[in-house]
Amino acid sequence: MISQNAIDTLRHTEIGTRGLFIDGAQSQGIAGATLPVISPIDGRVFASIADGNTADVDRAVKSARMAFEKGSWSRAAPAFRKKVLSRLAELVEKHADELAVLGVRENGTEIGMAYKAEPLSAAGTIRYYAEAIDKVYGEIAPTAENVLGLIHKEPLGVVGVIVPWNFPLMIGAWKVAPALAAGNCVVVKPPEIASLTLLRLAELAAEAGLPAGVLNVVTGRGAVTGEALGLHMDVDAIAFTGSGPVGRRLLDYSARSNVKRVFLELGGKSPNIVFADAPDLKQAAVVSANGIFRNSGQVCVAGSRLLVQASVYDRFMDELVSATTRLKVGDPLDLTSDIGAVSSAEQLDKNLGFVARAQIEGARLVTGGERILAETGGSYMAPTIFENVTQNMQLAREEVFGPVLGVMRFDTEEEAVRLANSTVYGLASAVWTANLSTAHRMVRAINAGVVHVNTYGGADITVPLGGVKQSGFGRDKSLHALEKYLELKTAWIAL
Ligand code: NAD
Repeated sequence: MISQNAIDTLRHTEIGTRGLFIDGAQSQGIAGATLPVISPIDGRVFASIADGNTADVDRAVKSARMAFEKGSWSRAAPAFRKKVLSRLAELVEKHADELAVLGVRENGTEIGMAYKAEPLSAAGTIRYYAEAIDKVYGEIAPTAENVLGLIHKEPLGVVGVIVPWNFPLMIGAWKVAPALAAGNCVVVKPPEIASLTLLRLAELAAEAGLPAGVLNVVTGRGAVTGEALGLHMDVDAIAFTGSGPVGRRLLDYSARSNVKRVFLELGGKSPNIVFADAPDLKQAAVVSANGIFRNSGQVCVAGSRLLVQASVYDRFMDELVSATTRLKVGDPLDLTSDIGAVSSAEQLDKNLGFVARAQIEGARLVTGGERILAETGGSYMAPTIFENVTQNMQLAREEVFGPVLGVMRFDTEEEAVRLANSTVYGLASAVWTANLSTAHRMVRAINAGVVHVNTYGGADITVPLGGVKQSGFGRDKSLHALEKYLELKTAWIAL
């Protein structure tokens, strides 16, 4: 774990202006424009990044295509890719302190969580796909005797990766690592407010021996660089994590350009369901509070809808409120803070808009609901709980992506299932019960990519993550993610 001393040494490191990373080196954007990087810790500008444009994206895609055609990565033995990616995982671990603090200065995640979720998890992901790639075999089809049917697995070509600001390094690694391991060349478009760690990752990749052009990073505004990547005729696939509206745009870009494949990990409104027979109500309350409030609720799988069985409702709510008010919101670079800053002033305003609307619609504010620590100049929000939330309210239907929990009560299992499934989303969920049969029935009945039982969150790299319904399609993590970045080619050989 990172020490407070190490954090304090790194927290004021001068960053200056960071360029794009194209063809193995930093370069200015063609137009020379920059964007400020504002820390939500204190509202101050602490760095700037290149504000890339369409021509920069084109440069990066050309570099990736040339590297792909050259073949020093795409046609290299998987054992070579394994070696380079393993070295990269080591370098990410070696620079974990630096990467963690840098990321927190950009997006305000509490350092304890950021340290594990960003550099350490990214290193683990890179190592996982490095280790996996020389165990992926082609197939021989069960054909008639006079034919040999071979199924080759080949890289797609140039993969565009577009990620959000909540965990750019971790989510970036979920896509970049399997794409690279499979032999693709990649162009990353980081989120405008949190680009620095992915730029650093590209530098470390070069240091690890990744050939020039195999991994490029183009910073800038989503509506410019993201769109240019989505519309590019020479990009073979886009792996995206972010909001629903941008995900839809990417499908449109694909249709309007070269029908590139698009994988979408979108938002959620995940139900966390507490049955009266939960093994330990107090423990369930503590984990549920963390399951919505960690990283100020800016977690795609956050349990933002809490459904509690009526017979234990009052008892559970007492425990939940007590666990919530114990959470310390404060400087994300202070190891004693349980929750850091909301990622930006805009996101904080958006969260407060949800609070205002929930009150107008008749939900009851139990705790929180306001900006705090305004004197720091940063964006901090008190963990917020609303009860008496009904299905027609905005809070029950729309993703806040902030520290705002809506609570509903239910009587029967059928009612819990109906409520759980009554949004357009289907990303994550949880069920708390001591009854094995109830647990298994709920796992089957809930429409979501993941159902936690007697816990919330914490799944590791060995299992897939992704949604159903409007939470998107395609899976990150696990060996299944590799399939997205490999094309099947049939050889049909007459004997
Ligand atoms: P966002 O959709 O605004 O931005 C995501 C990325 O898309 C950023 O890099 C942005 O620059 C880029 N972008 C913006 N406009 C674009 C355009 N027109 N064309 C192409 N790219 C464009 O999302 P955000 O605010 O950064 O992140 C929050 C959202 O991400 C939430 O909805 C959250 O649920 C979702 N999320 C999902 C997962 C998951 O695994 N399902 C994980 C984390 C976050």
